[in-house]
Amino acid sequence: MEKPILVESVRYSAVCQECGAETELCGVQALVGEALRWDVESMCPACGFALAVCDGDLPEDLRARLLSEHGRARLQVAPQTRNAAIMRVLRAELCIGLDDVRAVLEQVLTGRYSGTLPEVELLARKLRASGIEAAASRTVE
Ligand SMILES: [Zn+2]
Repeated sequence: MEKPILVESVRYSAVCQECGAETELCGVQALVGEALRWDVESMCPACGFALAVCDGDLPEDLRARLLSEHGRARLQVAPQTRNAAIMRVLRAELCIGLDDVRAVLEQVLTGRYSGTLPEVELLARKLRASGIEAAASRTVE
């Protein structure tokens, strides 16, 4: 089964931590198979200081930049699907408890669950792997 790589990126400027010159950063979030990755890279044009960060969770500021640049993606599931199966996937993927998963399920069923496209596409892939018809779609707002 083909698992295409999905990439979203954003460019923004920041101040070089070495020399203080303005430098351009490139932030990327990617879905590779069933793994979310991210990194931020920059190369200072003034002093050549190179930065590459990719550890741990996606930083909130990068997530905010991606959302404001590309907009939110929404998770869509076919209305006739079984809720218990969706909840199982949500609990496993989002690491949330039974109480929280009901609120998230409500968001999913009403088409209000959203995030970056790689995040939502990952959930859609997991749901499809469990036999649930699901898709990520970009909202235009
Ligand atoms: Zn510099």
